[in-house]
Amino acid sequence: MTQFIDVPAVCRLVDHVGVAEFIRGLTSAMEIDFRRWEEFDKCPRVASHSELGVIELMPAADTEHYAFKYVNGHPANTAKGLSTVMAFGALADVETGYPTLIAELTLTTAFRTAATSAMAAKALARPESKVMGMIACGSQSEFQAIAFHTLLGIETIRAFDIDADAMKKLKRNLKSYDKLEIELVDSAAEAAIDADIVTTCTADKAWATILTPEMVSPGTHINGVGGDCPGKTELHVDLLRKAKIFVEYEPQSRIEGDIQQLPADHPVHDLWRVVSDLEIGRDNAEQITVFDSVGFALEDFTALRYLQQLAEQFDEGEEIALIPELSDPKDLFELVLDPSGIAHSRKAA
Ligand code: NAD
Repeated sequence: MTQFIDVPAVCRLVDHVGVAEFIRGLTSAMEIDFRRWEEFDKCPRVASHSELGVIELMPAADTEHYAFKYVNGHPANTAKGLSTVMAFGALADVETGYPTLIAELTLTTAFRTAATSAMAAKALARPESKVMGMIACGSQSEFQAIAFHTLLGIETIRAFDIDADAMKKLKRNLKSYDKLEIELVDSAAEAAIDADIVTTCTADKAWATILTPEMVSPGTHINGVGGDCPGKTELHVDLLRKAKIFVEYEPQSRIEGDIQQLPADHPVHDLWRVVSDLEIGRDNAEQITVFDSVGFALEDFTALRYLQQLAEQFDEGEEIALIPELSDPKDLFELVLDPSGIAHSRKAA
């Protein structure tokens, strides 16, 4: 049988362990998987673009487990009462191809994106970082804020969004984090100037320029989350030229990241090599570093395995009859001869 972990089950898992611990555990799992980067079968995700958005399939596998995620990105969705990003994913057993897990990944993607950002910032930001500028206060923002507070020691977040209600929502949702100060500011520049870290997580299917060189102080680490699609950017090209840039999987990032604005031979560095201590991150305290995050399938592999392990630990999720259980594996037609499915459900039970 295939295990099914839906949205309420993920919410219960988060509740069991606590939000901060959930992110901490996921970040540790991500670091372990990034250190065994070369064991994975990898490829850029497959994207289907339309006027209003994109739908993507993201596969990754090691020798035991195959994972994929379905995810969309439709920035105009919120006006229709739908999320910008919605996702689900699956794990399968490589030896047999049997799908072992199907899970919600909308909420989980926000956690895994925050965990990836925190993993990158741990490797790249100045260790004494205390202030983060946050440009955009949408669905991803609380997760990013908690990850940076918990794992990087960020004490103040200066947040800006073009939507004042989104800013208020961020502050309201984080009110129980009494050691994290949320300052709402009037512009992206005000959020960014003199911050140790700047996170950009805007949603706009456009060649946007959210952050320009004058807004960024020496030594800042930029966590660029929202520029993740062809023709969808956030960082001014001159800012990229000034910075040391780190990416997840270069073949995908060249297509989707903010670095799509740079020539194909502009140097970028592999985050996994820094996480694995094979390369240093920032060269000095004045350098501007950029994590040009786009979201890579390996991170969803980690997230699905993490959910699977927590579900086992807390006895969450349910079994579903996704794949036929046959008395004779060559007799698929038995299901047609027994349309009531009674024999099948008896076997499944
Ligand atoms: P969302 O629609 O919930 O929130 C986006 C917010 O951006 C909105 O509040 C909007 O008002 C704000 N915004 C738009 N333009 C702005 C501007 N110029 N200045 C300030 N704020 C602005 O979307 P979300 O789910 O939070 O996702 C945010 C972005 O992150 C999207 O672009 C999404 O595709 C991307 N994303 C990336 C990854 C990754 O792994 N890199 C993962 C998930 C989402």
